[in-house]
Amino acid sequence: MTDALHRVSVSTLRAGLTAGDFSPAELTAHFLDRIERFDSGLNTLVTRCDEGARRQADAVASQKAEALSGIPLIQKDIFCTEGVRTTCGSRMLDQFIPPYQATSAARLAEAGSVLLGKANMDEFAMGSSNETSYYGPVRNPWDTDRVPGGSSGGSAAAVAAGLAPLATGTDTGGSIRQPAALCGITGLKPTYGRVSRYGMIAFASSLDQAGCFARRAEDCAHMLGRMAGFDPRDSTSVDAPVPDYHGGLPADPGMLKGLKVGLPKEYFADGLVPGTRGCVQAAIDELAGQGAEIVEVTLPNTGLAVPTYYVLAPAEASSNLARFDGVRYGHRCEQPRDLEDLYLRSRAEGFGREVQRRIMIGAYVLSAGYYDAYYLKAQKTRRLIADDFARVFEQVNIIASPTTQSTAFRLGEKLDDPVTMYLNDIYTIPANLAGLPGISVPAGFDQGLPVGLQLLAPWFAEQQLLNVAHAYQLLTDWHLQWPEAYA
Ligand code: GLN
Repeated sequence: MTDALHRVSVSTLRAGLTAGDFSPAELTAHFLDRIERFDSGLNTLVTRCDEGARRQADAVASQKAEALSGIPLIQKDIFCTEGVRTTCGSRMLDQFIPPYQATSAARLAEAGSVLLGKANMDEFAMGSSNETSYYGPVRNPWDTDRVPGGSSGGSAAAVAAGLAPLATGTDTGGSIRQPAALCGITGLKPTYGRVSRYGMIAFASSLDQAGCFARRAEDCAHMLGRMAGFDPRDSTSVDAPVPDYHGGLPADPGMLKGLKVGLPKEYFADGLVPGTRGCVQAAIDELAGQGAEIVEVTLPNTGLAVPTYYVLAPAEASSNLARFDGVRYGHRCEQPRDLEDLYLRSRAEGFGREVQRRIMIGAYVLSAGYYDAYYLKAQKTRRLIADDFARVFEQVNIIASPTTQSTAFRLGEKLDDPVTMYLNDIYTIPANLAGLPGISVPAGFDQGLPVGLQLLAPWFAEQQLLNVAHAYQLLTDWHLQWPEAYA
């Protein structure tokens, strides 16, 4: 049993702990050992927390057991963890040790989970390949010459390689769903406002949302149940009860009968690679085979999503990142001549190229004279995109589509072409603009590389999303495939 601890569900791990088959310390040791063996080849972690993890695991034994107590996990390095370095993938925060804990991280810690380490990520979560990280790229466990996706690339690759059963991520434009798809695991982005953003380093505040990675949707259900909920310290967090997501999962796929599944025709258009299309079509056939009713729908403003996002996200980023001035915390240049020199050089040295590009775009679209043409216009197109979804959800219960247009690309392949890189998120960005919840689940392989099926549900219908994903996983075993070297 103990050899296979990275292959089983969280519920199975919890049952093993309760039965005394293994201790929290042994479970943690299993994953620390795998990190020791495999992480140097994948670069999934920026900071390891071996000692802290052992201490936390020892403390768990005496705690009252709940679903996550004693379960190891990895935090994306965007979540502030008290006393543990939090870099956000940036030189700017290379030395930053937060004096406080992000609310979602605190909740997971209170549940008795064990923090194994902090995951590598694109700098300030800006990227789709994990190549903008100050700490170097993460490699995809299915093919180490390829990217894991981004920005939560370290989290996704770590779960795919079995270095942790669970990891957190954030999704501003696709950063949970896209790497989940490219790494062959499950990734859940909750509704905007479902999980507190307090202590999660801000990129684009009106879009940022925390979520989770696991092999199985049922494990995400455990995790979301703990992360979600109202937080008075985040004014956009929603004061709505948190269901028992795991308890609400169906025991069999019967719930798929009569489910209305919408396929947006704009998500199956040019650009979708045939191998990816084939897997997604097979997944939809599987749902139809269970009695789901498949309906073609249209989201006519889909084409506006990427340009809208690349006005709004940089605008918010340029404002959020203004706080990194070299004065209060973060990187400070050597021997500044005066205050202006301190600001200029600290920011020039602390931020990488992609972050600087976003700040410049953001400052431009917000500047007097251009504000109406870009920022204000983008706010209006954002509304059109959200209205499209509202209309479609009057006809269907859930939307199904590919998560990405193709499987994982090679390291370096898109790095010099920002627009091609930005177009990567064409199927994920609309849900962020609308604030909707989404999940990516493994749906097969194209030439040995994983393909993701994206499901989107109405606002706050995470239970529905998890239920459909779980039902699909009861019927298929794509989520249980392992990259050979890490099995
Ligand atoms: N790839 C998108 C970007 O670069 C989305 C990133 C994210 O969701 N954090 O902005």
